[in-house]
Amino acid sequence: MKSTTCKGQKGQFLEEYLSQSAAIHGADEIKKQYGHDLAPYQCRACGYWHLNPVQTRRQCFLCTDSSLFQKDIYATRDEAINTADRIRKEKKIQLFPYKCPHGSGWHLSKKG
Ligand SMILES: [Zn+2]
Ligand SMILES: [Zn+2]
Repeated sequence: MKSTTCKGQKGQFLEEYLSQSAAIHGADEIKKQYGHDLAPYQCRACGYWHLNPVQTRRQCFLCTDSSLFQKDIYATRDEAINTADRIRKEKKIQLFPYKCPHGSGWHLSKKG
């Protein structure tokens, strides 16, 4: 159902959901169809639920490092290598790029 009161960043009317579970289900459907990551939030203006694009650092939900932090995703091997170079200079840690086994892109690992 489209909201008649709430608009998104591009001026389009937002999809509205009556409950959190409906919003989560809606986000799942969009993820399957378009591959977009969306996060449900309850709207203060209308009291229904909308979906927000996830715009934080891209992290892999399926891979964690040794401290159980979710791993950052790099779109390309070059991007991962550039980041590894920076970390090596800043923190004196050697990291190695490897391809995410779940197809999310590239991660960095302490093990080569
Ligand atoms: Zn709203
Ligand atoms: Zn991963």
